[in-house]
Amino acid sequence: MKHLIVGNGIAGINAAKAIREMDTTAAIVMVSDETFPPYSRPMISYVLEGSEPHEKLPLFAGNVYEDLNITPVLGNRVAQLDAKKKIVRLENGADIEFETLLIASGADARHIRVPGSELGNIFTMRTQKDVLDQLKAVSQGVENALVLGGGLVGFKAAHALLKRGIKVTMLITSPYPLAMQVDETAGKMILRELEDHGLTVKVGVSVTAFDGDATVENARLDSGETLDCDLVIVGKGVDPSLRFIEQNDIQTGYGILVDKYLCSSIPNIYAAGDAAETFDIARQTRWINAIWPEAAIQGRIAGFNMSGRKVSCPGSLGRNVMRIYGLDVMTMGLANPENTDNFEIIQAGGEKTGAYRRLVFHGDILAGAVLINQIEQGGMLRAMIENRVPVRIPRSCLMSLDFNYSQLL
Ligand SMILES: Cc1cc2nc3c(=O)[nH]c(=O)nc-3n(C[C@H](O)[C@H](O)[C@H](O)COP(=O)(O)OP(=O)(O)OC[C@H]3O[C@@H](n4cnc5c(N)ncnc54)[C@H](O)[C@@H]3O)c2cc1C
Repeated sequence: MKHLIVGNGIAGINAAKAIREMDTTAAIVMVSDETFPPYSRPMISYVLEGSEPHEKLPLFAGNVYEDLNITPVLGNRVAQLDAKKKIVRLENGADIEFETLLIASGADARHIRVPGSELGNIFTMRTQKDVLDQLKAVSQGVENALVLGGGLVGFKAAHALLKRGIKVTMLITSPYPLAMQVDETAGKMILRELEDHGLTVKVGVSVTAFDGDATVENARLDSGETLDCDLVIVGKGVDPSLRFIEQNDIQTGYGILVDKYLCSSIPNIYAAGDAAETFDIARQTRWINAIWPEAAIQGRIAGFNMSGRKVSCPGSLGRNVMRIYGLDVMTMGLANPENTDNFEIIQAGGEKTGAYRRLVFHGDILAGAVLINQIEQGGMLRAMIENRVPVRIPRSCLMSLDFNYSQLL
C-alpha cells in the first residue's frame, strides 16, 4: 500500500504513526512545504517571547522520518491534486502517486490586503519561519508593535512582544478580545486584564493602510488615527490550506467535508486537522475546530482508517484553556451563539467578583461554557457537553462550586 500525507503537522505525523502501528511495510510519503521536522505550533510564540529556543519546538527526539520509515518530501508545496489519476503534482512539477491520500495541510494565516501591506516587518504568525523572521526584525530594534486581531494568536503574539519590553497596541475590529470564543462579560474582563498588564487595546477599529519606506513606519486606521509602528503581526484568523484540491469533485464547505471515518466524498482520500470539517458535537453540525488536540486525534483516526482498521471519530469540540495574566480562562463548545433564540443562558459573577461562569443550554443539553477563574469543574462540564448528558436537575445547581457529576444521576 502506498500512503501519501500532505502536511507534516500534528495531524499528518499522527496519521503516519497510526499507519505504522498497523502496517510495518506500507510506503508512507509525507510532503510539506515546511522544512522543519514536526513541531509544536502552539509553542512558537514562546520562541518569540524568548522563553524557549526554537530548538525546543520539535515534537520528537531524533529523526522521526527515519524512525517511522517515512519518505519525507520537504520544502515542497503541493500545487495540484488529480483525484482520478491518484496523483499530486508539486510546485516543482514532480508527480507523486498514491493509493490512499491524507490531506492534513492545516491552515494558512490570513494576510491583510491594504495599501502598504507588502512593506517589510509586517508578519503573520503561523510557522516557525514566521517567528524566526519576527525575531530577526526584533533584534534590529523595535519600539512600537501593532498586533492586528484579538484572538488566541493575537494575544500570544502581543504577550510575547510585551515580554521583550516592546510597546504593543492591539487593534481589534470586534468590541472585545477573543470574541469568537467568549461573550461580552468575559471579553471585557479579559480586555481589562490585558490593559492592566501594559497592552494598549483599541476596539472597533481596522487598519486601512500602512506607510513606510522599505519597512513599515505607521498604520492608518479607519477611525482617522495614525499610529507609529515598526513591526506588525497580523493575527486575523486562518483559512484551510486547500487551493490544490480545487479542480476535483471533493466536497467542501469551508474545509473538506468528511464522514465519521474522516474520509472525504472520494474513497481513499481522507482529511484531518485544521483542513477538515468534522461533526461538531456542541453545534450538531459540521464545523472546523482548528485546535491542536483535535488535529492530533483526527490524524490518528485517519491513519487507522487509511490502513484498513475502521475507527470512527466521535465528533469534535472546540475548547481552549488559557492563562491570561491573572485570569484562568476556559471556553468550550458553543459558548456564544449568534442567535440566542433556542438557547437558555445562565451566568454569574463578572468583573466585580473576579470570577465568571456562563453556561449555554440547548434544551436540556449543555452546549457551551465559559469559565473565568474557578475553572476546576471545567473537565466535568466538558464531559457533559461531549457526552450530551441531559440535565434534569435545576440548572442553577451547575453554577455551584460544590456541584458534582453524581447529582445528575
Ligand atoms: C501561534 C499559534 C498558537 C496556537 N496556540 C494553540 C493553543 O494554545 N491551543 C490549541 O489547541 N491550538 C493552538 N493553535 C492551533 C494549532 O496549532 C493547530 O490547530 C494545529 O497545528 C493544526 O494542525 P494540523 O496538522 O491540522 O495543521 P498544521 O499544523 O497547519 O500543519 C499543516 C502543514 O501542512 C503544510 N502545508 C499546507 N499546505 C500545503 C501544501 N499545499 N503542500 C505541502 N504542504 C502544505 C503546512 O505548511 C504545515 O506545515 C495555535 C496556532 C498558532 C499558529
